[in-house]
Amino acid sequence: MKDLTIVGSVAFDDLEMPSGIFENVLGGAATYAAIASSLLASPRVVGVVGNDFGDEHLAMLKKRGIDTEGIERANGRTFRWRGRYSQDLASRETLDTQLNVFAEFKPKLPAKYTESNFVLLGNIHPALQLDVLAQIQKAGETTKKKPKLVAADTMNLWISTEPKLLGALIEKIDLLIINDEEARELAGMTNLARAAGEIRRKFSAHRKDSPLRLIVKKGEHGALLFDDAGPFFAPAYPLEEVRDPTGAGDSFAGGVLGYLAKMDDASPKALRRAIFHGSALGSFCVEDIGTKRLAAVSPADYRARLEAFVRFVDYGGDLWPSPVN
Ligand code: AMP
Repeated sequence: MKDLTIVGSVAFDDLEMPSGIFENVLGGAATYAAIASSLLASPRVVGVVGNDFGDEHLAMLKKRGIDTEGIERANGRTFRWRGRYSQDLASRETLDTQLNVFAEFKPKLPAKYTESNFVLLGNIHPALQLDVLAQIQKAGETTKKKPKLVAADTMNLWISTEPKLLGALIEKIDLLIINDEEARELAGMTNLARAAGEIRRKFSAHRKDSPLRLIVKKGEHGALLFDDAGPFFAPAYPLEEVRDPTGAGDSFAGGVLGYLAKMDDASPKALRRAIFHGSALGSFCVEDIGTKRLAAVSPADYRARLEAFVRFVDYGGDLWPSPVN
């Protein structure tokens, strides 16, 4: 019931932070999303690692109830990414991306992975995201079962280098999760509300069912949802100390999908609540380098952060009579 299939990068990151340089840090979109969602659901990860990927990392994922059967070990080096953050951690620059074993990766989903009700196509080359989705759809023709919701994340690199493949992917999914810069680039316009409308229109032309839903992440400024129920906003939790924003977006996506999978519900109401879970998990992620803090979150920590979130956005439930008059 709570099954969530996740594809995305499994990586080693080199992070140049104002606080120092951290190398060979376990990272990757699928890693962050799986760890975050494991607090809520039962993630199943599709990916590939090289022979430099220590068994202790797989053991850590398994210990959290993450199914790693879909993580293949190939001969070569694990995906590597190197980034440098600005002094205020608000922006970063990619210094190096090495696809390594992901360059030749042909995902082969274990049969049970094709039966999950929820799917997160995390950030990786759109050809791989499409391949995973095709396997799920093909299996569904036999089992007569299709996922309740397929979500995808992507990044600037794929928007600029693989627009056709990415477009083909977005037409097939139910929920796109991108950041504000990516939304503007994808739509070719700066006003975010208009860009969201344009993206929803552009990629919904061939859809028989409901139009594409869109979440626009704004980092420390929260996240917006655009769906048929109208725009919705949830803030990010204000933290006094942020150490490393890497993976916050993937943790957010993992939290959103994890909550939907836990509730087995893809309704507009569930999606609005899910965004708070995504924001809570994103807020843990940034508190330490790499996956360190996220992997240490206890159920009690999680509950406390959610309660703090509820207090943070509690305005008393009634805005009338207006205090202005
Ligand atoms: P986020 O900070 O949520 O955008 O994600 C950071 C993670 O994305 C890092 O752990 C990287 O390993 C991973 N990453 C960076 N570039 C790529 C890429 N081109 N494809 C897939 N994953 C990437």
